[in-house]
Amino acid sequence: GSVGRHGDGLIEARERMLGPAYRLFYRKPVHLVRGEGSHLFDADGDRYLDAYNNVASVGHCHPHVVDAVMRQMTSVNTHTRYLHDGIVDYSDRLLGTLGPGIDQVMYACTGSEANDLALRVASMHTGTTGVVVTTEAYHGNTQAVTAISPSNGGPAVLGPHVRTVPPPDRRGTGSAAEAFADHVRRAADDLQAAGFGLSCLIVDTIFSSDGIFAAPDVLAPAVAAVREHGAVFIADEVQPGFGRTGEAMWGFDRHGVRPDIVTMGKPMGNGLPVSAMAVRSEVLERFALTQPYFNTFGGNPVSMAAAAAVLDVIESEDLPAHALRIGGRLRGEIAGVAAEHAGVDDIRGTGLYIGVEIVTDDGAPDRRRARAIVEAMRDAHVLISVCGEHGNVLKIRPPLVFSDPDVDWFCTALESALTTTLTTVG
Ligand code: PMP
Repeated sequence: GSVGRHGDGLIEARERMLGPAYRLFYRKPVHLVRGEGSHLFDADGDRYLDAYNNVASVGHCHPHVVDAVMRQMTSVNTHTRYLHDGIVDYSDRLLGTLGPGIDQVMYACTGSEANDLALRVASMHTGTTGVVVTTEAYHGNTQAVTAISPSNGGPAVLGPHVRTVPPPDRRGTGSAAEAFADHVRRAADDLQAAGFGLSCLIVDTIFSSDGIFAAPDVLAPAVAAVREHGAVFIADEVQPGFGRTGEAMWGFDRHGVRPDIVTMGKPMGNGLPVSAMAVRSEVLERFALTQPYFNTFGGNPVSMAAAAAVLDVIESEDLPAHALRIGGRLRGEIAGVAAEHAGVDDIRGTGLYIGVEIVTDDGAPDRRRARAIVEAMRDAHVLISVCGEHGNVLKIRPPLVFSDPDVDWFCTALESALTTTLTTVG
């Protein structure tokens, strides 16, 4: 039986039954049994600081969300072929945050499904299939979105209808926006010449898997270029959405652009599988008139109750403003720690999405030390990971309820991790 499995026994049972595609974080994997706010507890009762989880964005097991889910679960849980207030009330609130233009929304269970649907909608609207993504983009795990996700296995996974462009560079000046647009134009021309045409540009608006490039106002010229081709712009808000950037509810808001399609997931239900594709109705029309849509679990009353409760908490606890303040403080304190150590090159981000670049003595990406820092932080019970093309960017992305004492704990652990891991002499 499963009772009493611990440590190595649990790891062995997992590997035997789930197979090798499943990966664990950390040399010493963490066995979590409880969560509260920004803290997690393992099977021995030890407390961890969660500086990585953007799903439990309003805090692990937030009582308002738990209560909303429990109440709906004890009333009824069906699907979207019956009338229910929940989906209509939530859609009204959600569309209200997405600004003018985006006026319809369809629900799914994962970010992958939302992006898969977005690709179908874009393709029906444009009559073409070409897609432009960034170099290290991740947009999900279905066959269609794996084909547009280079970070999911390198160039070999990319479809013939896909072209990659470098993300807008970290300096994010006007010229970064123009350079990005130039790359997009060239990719679009290439797709045109290859006979695919251009259906869409899809972008994670904080470029998380590319290494976290949070400079604002870098997308407008590229979006204009895409529209000149008759194609659409899809903002993948799975990572920056729901207030994480502190400055706005949505990542695209920070770039002063209006997407044709917005996809979202992860924090949307604070852990319940809830995702959505929101769209301008004229872009949806061709798809909607020819293909009925049904998703057994997508948009069900329990999911909508969770999603509505998440919006309640974001509003009532003013989490974007909190993320802006606490994220600013966290970046500042990280910079203070980094100043005492070699090998920390760039500290970037906005709100509670922070990237810290680890480099060798001669300034090259230091993947090895970045990994060692992640392990040292884990040993100090602080959970983070890495991202970026070279795997050398510390990825710091805590729940939005991260507190001032959490910042102190984080920086103590970082200080010690930087002290015990040595820079690689290049
Ligand atoms: N888009 C982005 C930008 C993501 O980061 C992810 C998940 N890491 C996805 C899409 C896919 O979401 P899911 O895992 O819910 O399918």
